[in-house]
Amino acid sequence: SPVVGVLAVQGDVREHLRALEESGAHAIAVRRPEEVERVDGLVLPGGESTTMDKLLRAFDLQQPLRERIARGMPAYGSCAGMILLADKVLDSTTDQQTIGGLDVTVRRNAFGRQVDSFETDLTMSGVDGAPIRAVFIRAPWVEAVGPAVEVLATVPDGPAAGRVVAVRQGSLLATSFHPEVTGDHRIHRFFVTEILRR
Ligand code: GLN
Repeated sequence: SPVVGVLAVQGDVREHLRALEESGAHAIAVRRPEEVERVDGLVLPGGESTTMDKLLRAFDLQQPLRERIARGMPAYGSCAGMILLADKVLDSTTDQQTIGGLDVTVRRNAFGRQVDSFETDLTMSGVDGAPIRAVFIRAPWVEAVGPAVEVLATVPDGPAAGRVVAVRQGSLLATSFHPEVTGDHRIHRFFVTEILRR
């Protein structure tokens, strides 16, 4: 089975490790540059993207991650992980850097104070069956996409209707929401079976 890492500098690592194991991968926590080299793919979890950025630079992980992603390593970013994969970030702190690779502009904490955290059911292309319960926690949305980026899901209704919350560009996948907290592993399975094995 493929070895899939979960970036483990900060954020909800354990839930992703479990979801990946239950999706047919061998999941390992990634904290060191050597571990970046060992994995077939990587999940970047939710958390706090500014903190994660600082830790990635402090632990000498930013450069190895940029290089592996540039060489085509599959990666899936959820929430803060989506921000880390984005080429451009709005409402970031002045010194915030990303790993990049995904040709999108994301807006941090985009849903605003009133709807800081919310849940909705949505459909996501590539993921069959019942709608997905999407849990948003101080989430970003995708505000602009480059030509190679495929929009997989948007918010179905409410004040943020139509906002882009799941995208794919080749071997890179990102969602604004947190599939690891619902027990529904279809998105992890999609990453492991469709994106990693393609
Ligand atoms: N608001 C966080 C950030 O900007 C992301 C929140 C999350 O990952 N749940 O990094």
